[in-house]
Parts: sequence; structure tokens; C-alpha cells
Amino acid sequence: MPLQLVQGDIARERTCAVVTAANKELAGGGGVDGVIHRAAGPELLRAIRQIGGTPTGTAVITPAFNLERQGVRFVIHAVGPVWRGGGQGEAELLAGAYRESLRLTVEHGCDSVALPAISTGVYGYPLREAAEVTLRTLHDFLAEHPGLTVRLVLHGEEAVRAFREAEAGWGGESRA
Ligand code: ADP
Repeated sequence: MPLQLVQGDIARERTCAVVTAANKELAGGGGVDGVIHRAAGPELLRAIRQIGGTPTGTAVITPAFNLERQGVRFVIHAVGPVWRGGGQGEAELLAGAYRESLRLTVEHGCDSVALPAISTGVYGYPLREAAEVTLRTLHDFLAEHPGLTVRLVLHGEEAVRAFREAEAGWGGESRA
């Protein structure tokens, strides 16, 4: 199954590329970004500081540094939107962050990628709304890249429940 919804710690993944939820300044942050930076080591921060920044809704790619020990070749730094009620283009920006992450994955010759639920932590995107946009974007990309394995690594029961419910609804819609 090319899209896998799993519960766990993304820093333990062994996919070719691992995506982190970065900020547009590429300054390094807390949450999932802190976890990935701790696992990859200080060279990761130096690498993104050299890039300097990237707009909301886009992503940049760097080597994986210490994560290479577990087989990860690249870290992709995706910038999702801060939730401002849903009327500020949040859905399109969130979709852009995922699309660009997947595009970079394929462009760099990877056939597997692990992603977190971008924007659903400190950035406040409601889980249910984020799940709809995220799953639609991932499924759309996978329809055109059937060889790619995509693992959506969710942290906590609440996220798993929201994404599994949305996935069930999405599957139902697609069959209708
Ligand atoms: P953002 O600023 O984009 O909201 P956060 O890092 O605050 O980013 O949160 C994004 C998501 O990552 C949240 O759903 C959070 O629960 C989740 N998360 C936190 N730690 C991990 C981890 N180790 N592995 C996977 N997901 C994680």
C-alpha cells in the first residue's frame, strides 16, 4: 500500500527522505523539527541557515547528516501555514508544502518518504481540516507516482483518529 498512516516518532523512520515541519525563516524550531534536528545533529541547522529561508507553502532539501546512519538520505524542510481561521489560503498553502516535499523526494531519486502532520502542532491547524487537505494532496500525487511509498507518521492518538476517519471518508468519496 503506497500510503501508510502510522503512529510513531518520525525521527526513527528509515525512509529515503524525511520531512520536517519548519518555519519560513529556516531557523530551526521545537515540536517535530526539534526532534529531527536532535537526531540529525548540528550540521542540519548549519545547512538550513545557509539556505536562509523559504516561503510558506514551499519546501527545501538538505542532506540528512546523522540520520544517514539509519538509511535516511535527505531531510526536507516544509513550511506549512499558521492557522488563521481558514480564510487566509491555509488549505492551498498546506497542500503546497506537501506537494513540494513530494516533488523534491522524487526529484532526488527517492522511492520512500516519511512526513509529519504539518501545521497541526504549534501552527494550530485543526486536525480534521488538516487531514482532509493532507490526504487529498498525498493521494493526488501518488496517483501520478505509483512507485512511491509515503508514510504519514502521526504523533498521538488524537491525530491518528482524525486522519483515519478522514481517510475512510476520502476512500468512500473516491469510490462514489
Ligand atoms: P507546526 O509548527 O507545523 O504545527 P509542530 O512540530 O508543532 O509543527 O507539529 C506538527 C505535528 O508534528 C504535530 O501533529 C505534532 O504532534 C507532531 N509531532 C511532534 N513530534 C513528533 C514526532 N517525533 N514524530 C512525528 N510527529 C511529531
